Amino acid sequence: MAEKKEFQAESRRLLDLMINSIYTHKEIFLRELISNASDAIDKYYHWALEHHEEPGDLGIRIELDETNRTLTISDNGIGMTKEELEENLGTIAKSGTLAFKEELKKQDKDQSDIIGQFGVGFYSAFMVADEVTVYTRAAGSEEAWEWKSQGADGYEIEACDKEERGTMLVLHLKADDDQEDYSQYLQSYRVQDLVKKYSDYIRYPIRMTVETTQEVDGETRTVPEEKTLNSMVPLWKRPKAEVTEEELSTFYKQHFFDFTDPMKTIFFNVEGNVDFTALLYIPSRVPDGFYSQDYKPGLQLYSRGVFIMDHCEELLPPYLRFVKGLVDSQDLSLNISREMLQHDHQLRLIKNRIERKVLNELGAMLAKDREQYEKFWKNFGLDIKFGIYSSFGADRDKLENLLLFYTTDGGKPVTLQEFVSAMPEDQKDIYYVSAKDTEAAAKLPVVKSLQKKGYQALILTAEVDEFVMQTLGQYKDHPFTNASSADLDLQSEEEKEQLEKTSEENKDLLSFMKEALPEVSEVRLSARLADDPVMLVAGNGLSFEMEKVYAAMAA
Ligand code: ADP
Ligand code: MG
Repeated sequence: MAEKKEFQAESRRLLDLMINSIYTHKEIFLRELISNASDAIDKYYHWALEHHEEPGDLGIRIELDETNRTLTISDNGIGMTKEELEENLGTIAKSGTLAFKEELKKQDKDQSDIIGQFGVGFYSAFMVADEVTVYTRAAGSEEAWEWKSQGADGYEIEACDKEERGTMLVLHLKADDDQEDYSQYLQSYRVQDLVKKYSDYIRYPIRMTVETTQEVDGETRTVPEEKTLNSMVPLWKRPKAEVTEEELSTFYKQHFFDFTDPMKTIFFNVEGNVDFTALLYIPSRVPDGFYSQDYKPGLQLYSRGVFIMDHCEELLPPYLRFVKGLVDSQDLSLNISREMLQHDHQLRLIKNRIERKVLNELGAMLAKDREQYEKFWKNFGLDIKFGIYSSFGADRDKLENLLLFYTTDGGKPVTLQEFVSAMPEDQKDIYYVSAKDTEAAAKLPVVKSLQKKGYQALILTAEVDEFVMQTLGQYKDHPFTNASSADLDLQSEEEKEQLEKTSEENKDLLSFMKEALPEVSEVRLSARLADDPVMLVAGNGLSFEMEKVYAAMAA
């Protein structure tokens, strides 16, 4: 007995979009389904290791049936239980599809354009098929299930017979119309091309029976031949010179659920104490949910091309949580557990190399492409600052040179090096002021008195900024000094004498004011004020801004 179910509302919207898609690159459906099959085999591989089962010959099969207009993709991966079928194919809960959905909400985007940029997953089958049937049997399960849908009306689930573990997808292709030739996906040569184009690096063989012409006893005959369509070399295992920027970008978008090209791709090999290949990406936008609890940092970990785990946090220092990518190392065991990772010496070496490489690349970006770096800084500058106050010694030197600050001169953000180089010779300290934004900073009385001397100050607007200043203490022998805290010692000797004299003359007035203002600890004359009549200054401890941070933390 088949159970009838409706798609969850969001899935339905996405489906409608796929069914009515006028998108010209419908061919990507094959890439999506093959990538799902490959993921499923990865999952099975790990399941087999855990269950001490011999994984056997793992692979994907494509079959074409022109008469029945079907394209079939089978895998011997992990399969799905009945619950998983409903959950995975009936609702949108998956990261890639979810991000896609978010993007669709933004009205100004051309919908057809986004489809191509995304990993849109299983539902893309409905771009080319008017009916999709899924037969599946989960690893370790005795039951098999059939899921069938013609799209928007919902789907049916019922028990079925399936001898082998894994999933088989049967796509009944739409009839050709004026706009679209769907029959092309029944042509062997066309499907072979598509596999080569999009799925060549899939690590498992994608096999198909192909008609080939052969000479048999002096006669030319067509005979069926079993053929593996993909080269199975993962992208990152190919010689670097052969891999194009575009391939790297496409790979990024597909694997790390972004729809924009990465800002920077860092692809490198390390040999020596530890051998590994890393393919890293700096996103060009802040990832979805980056500031939420659900954001999962870390890199994918592979051993000799075989997937071990996602979001391996041991490969990146926490402050580089915005970096996406993967690491492949032959030095790791396949069934390494999460607990073991924390103590793994190799992994620590890899992490250090990655940190160094990323910082070098950022330094190079800062030096060579300022505009791009400023974009990076806007997105992830806060993380670099976090890096400063969470790291030690040697790392700090590299990190401090990556900092950018707005200053009271009102121009573009500058590095500490640039700031120091622009200081007048008599300025020893690097002054900073904390304010809500650059405009508020410009209005501070102390800024005006600094400027009267020809000095500028860094403007700190983020809560972590003062921690950063305190952690660093100084930059190239120039101490960081909070311009708003007491004694700046900006006056000349004469000015000081003059001030002392005036204070003495007005002693009574000052002590009267102190009595009238019980909240302040001292009232005194100041030479720091340029145009303003009075200012409040903090003592030598925390600045007012820092007190606010502490108050917020305690709340
Ligand atoms: P994504 O691949 O981004 O997770 P998809 O829409 O492509 O999203 O697939 C949804 C889910 O359906 C997958 O996460 C997986 O759990 C399940 N799935 C799809 N295809 C297969 C398959 N061939 N074998 C097992 N599970 C599958
Ligand atoms: Mg998928």
